[in-house]
Amino acid sequence: MVKRSWTEVRLETLVSNYRIYRSLVPKEQRVMAVVKADAYGHGDTATALALQKEGVTDFAVSNITEAVGLRKVGIRGQILILGYTPPENAKDLVTYKITQALLSESYAEKMADKGITAQFAIDTGMNRIGLDADDPAACERIIRAYRDRFTLTGMFTHFCVADTPAEDAFTDAQKAKFFAVADRVKDLEFPCVHCMNSAGGLWHNAAGEGDLVRLGIILYGLKPDCENTLPEGIRPALSWKSVVSLLKTVHPGETIGYGRTYRAEADRVIATVPTGYADGYNRLISNNGYVMIKGQRAPVVGRVCMDQMTVDVTGIPGVAEGDEVVLLGEGLDADEMASWVGSIGYEVLCDIGKRVERRYVN
Ligand SMILES: *Cc1c(COP(=O)(O)O)cnc(C)c1O
Repeated sequence: MVKRSWTEVRLETLVSNYRIYRSLVPKEQRVMAVVKADAYGHGDTATALALQKEGVTDFAVSNITEAVGLRKVGIRGQILILGYTPPENAKDLVTYKITQALLSESYAEKMADKGITAQFAIDTGMNRIGLDADDPAACERIIRAYRDRFTLTGMFTHFCVADTPAEDAFTDAQKAKFFAVADRVKDLEFPCVHCMNSAGGLWHNAAGEGDLVRLGIILYGLKPDCENTLPEGIRPALSWKSVVSLLKTVHPGETIGYGRTYRAEADRVIATVPTGYADGYNRLISNNGYVMIKGQRAPVVGRVCMDQMTVDVTGIPGVAEGDEVVLLGEGLDADEMASWVGSIGYEVLCDIGKRVERRYVN
């Protein structure tokens, strides 16, 4: 363990978030854990294994590399790839028993007759992947045409505004379009017909529609949209920490860092922190955010560098070199950090770099 820049993921919190969410979803629906992008930066192996122990049998990822990685560490249930797998990698889908999303009719044709287990993506308004639900007859024709050329286990769609109450009518329309397609092929008795993301599963799921709910961001303790209110007890599972590598006082008129973007007006006590944009700490936080030291806010002053940054600890008594610095954690979550840079908590988490050591704590 090198105490330079590291994350601490509390698996207990992930499990507790899962249990709370699980308790709010109708019992008849399974909860599929969305662990794409290395479980939103939390580490997909540790996350998936902890949830498998909790009884989770369905996982979703974005690509074949992630899927095979999970199989190799012992994830046994369904692993669904939500996006594109190049046709030349089709045999890995079969070898590792991975379920592939079928993105379009032409993609299905390229992947057919290879023994692949698959589910059709249905496009109900996202306009990204899937068969066009505005033509349900064509969807039905395609699904029936391919049912014997794959092991077809179902279909799914994705909501684009399920986290936005002002857009509820659009989500309702997406749901209606999806089930209009699903109803046309009801006789095929697919076991995996699903449309809910984290937000949908909580706020558009009163009737428990679909066989499963795809739980992503709320598993990790963050909001789908910054305006949302999360269920009681859901908390971020990840903290990101660094240390004070040096303390110094800068005097009036002196500047800090590249571009001399910060100028001291009075004596300021400055702490250098060995985390930078190469660790995924967004450079737009330059002079535009803060870290926590000893439970207090220390503003980022000057530009965030590749490997280091500088923060103002003038008002915080007793700071010493080697002290822990909280970049994300108690009192400062990824949703707030995202607001400084015009992004979303999802991106903040996914951006945490590979060279930031991952630790698991309880
Ligand atoms: C990422 C993703 C999810 C999870 O979304 P959250 O907003 O994190 O819950 C669900 N379904 C699909 C198709 C996705 O791509």
